[in-house]
Amino acid sequence: MTTTESSANLLREVALIACGRREGKTGSCASCARKAPALLNIASTGALDALAAAICGNHGGACQDCHTKAETIINETVGVCTV
Ligand SMILES: [Zn+2]
Ligand SMILES: [Zn+2]
Repeated sequence: MTTTESSANLLREVALIACGRREGKTGSCASCARKAPALLNIASTGALDALAAAICGNHGGACQDCHTKAETIINETVGVCTV
């Protein structure tokens, strides 16, 4: 029952998805790791567009790639964040 640990794992996962998950890659870069708490906050509200923009770093609208990442993050965190 270590919620701190599971949320740390979740943050790592979010950072990795935002950074670009691919085979053999086990961690995100430092900059994506720094963004992860904010991304997780947005994901918990279910705001897909805002999350995509935050990943992309472009407030005028995210690219398709970042939209896909945002969907993945929301899909993968929704099940975990239902307390
Ligand atoms: Zn990165
Ligand atoms: Zn983008």
